[in-house]
Order: sequence, then C-alpha cells, then structure tokens
Amino acid sequence: MFLALALMSDHWKAPDVPTNGTKPAIWTREEWGAKPPVLPMEPHTITRITIHHTGVKQTPQRDFGDKLRGLQAWSQREDQLAGGRTKPQWTDIPYHYYIDWSGRIAEARPVELPGDTNTSYDVRGHLLIVVEGLFPEDTLHEPQRQSLYQLTSYLAREHKVFPHAIKGHVDFAPGETDCPGASLIHEIPHLRLWLAQQEPWW
Ligand SMILES: [Zn+2]
Repeated sequence: MFLALALMSDHWKAPDVPTNGTKPAIWTREEWGAKPPVLPMEPHTITRITIHHTGVKQTPQRDFGDKLRGLQAWSQREDQLAGGRTKPQWTDIPYHYYIDWSGRIAEARPVELPGDTNTSYDVRGHLLIVVEGLFPEDTLHEPQRQSLYQLTSYLAREHKVFPHAIKGHVDFAPGETDCPGASLIHEIPHLRLWLAQQEPWW
C-alpha cells in the first residue's frame, strides 16, 4: 500500500505499449551479422530479468549494426575496461538483449547461455537487458523506456519470470556498481508494478 502510494505520487506515466506481452520488433543476430559464440558454456534456465545500462554515452550517429558487431568483437577478445582493468575473453556480448538510444531492440547473446559481468554476482538464471546510455547523464528517451517495458513484458511471459524478480544490476552488486544509473533504477519499481497489474502468467 505504502509502495503503491509512493509510486503514484511521483510523475510516472504509463508507457504507450501493449499490456498483454505482445512481442516487440527485435533485430535478430542473423540480421545484424553476429558471429557464433566463441567459448563453450553450460546452458541455464531463466528465473529473473536484470537491467543494465551500457555505462558509456549514447552514440546516435553510429550505425546500430556497426555498434553491435563492434561490441561483439570487443566482448570476444581479452581487452581493457575503462579504468585499466583487463577483462577476459567472453563467449559473446555479455547481455541477451540490447535497446539502443532510439528504442530499437536487438538480440545479443543467445538467451540459453548465461551472461558475463565485471562484478562478482552469479549471472546464471539472469536474463540480461542492456539499455544504451550512461544514466542519468544521458536522457532515457521515451522510445527506449517504451521498448524496455514492452520487451520485459514479453520476456517475463516467455520465461515465466515473476514481476518481483525484475531488478537492476546494482541490486546484485551493491558497492561495486551503480548500474543501471539513477534514472533507469527509478523506473524499475514502476515496471514491476505495471507488470503485476497485467493478466498473471506466473
Ligand atoms: Zn550492469
């Protein structure tokens, strides 16, 4: 009750997207020219959805396919992180879905493979969605917000994820990250409540 009142009291606006789990347009790996995963991994079963930001400023001028292929190439080799730490070679992009600055959605890592992280939480069981931007420095554009809601509504049904199992990266790695950034973290309780008000699938 207290939570519902608190959520209603700020300026949240319902996204203009279907509330029945309709699949949004998703650019497939084949369409953007993904390479296959490069390392063997044990498959996992999705039990939760975890939201990230890319943590770097949006690049509206860069072609989306070029961005995805570049991110995959960086992910699939050993390389430097911002701050000079080394990251190991990963099998693929660390996240399963990517929402760009304009709200377009692409498949990233195959969903049956666990993701990767630079922090210390166990990523098995997590379906990882990344939203392009460094929040709150960047604007969470309304089409991005709408895509996040519609994609999550679709994926929660596909994988039978409870609304309360939708969280942000920082919930699993407090003190290690502020991902997905204040303006996106702020959306997550609204997203959970919006989903919980839909026809139950869990
Ligand atoms: Zn993150």
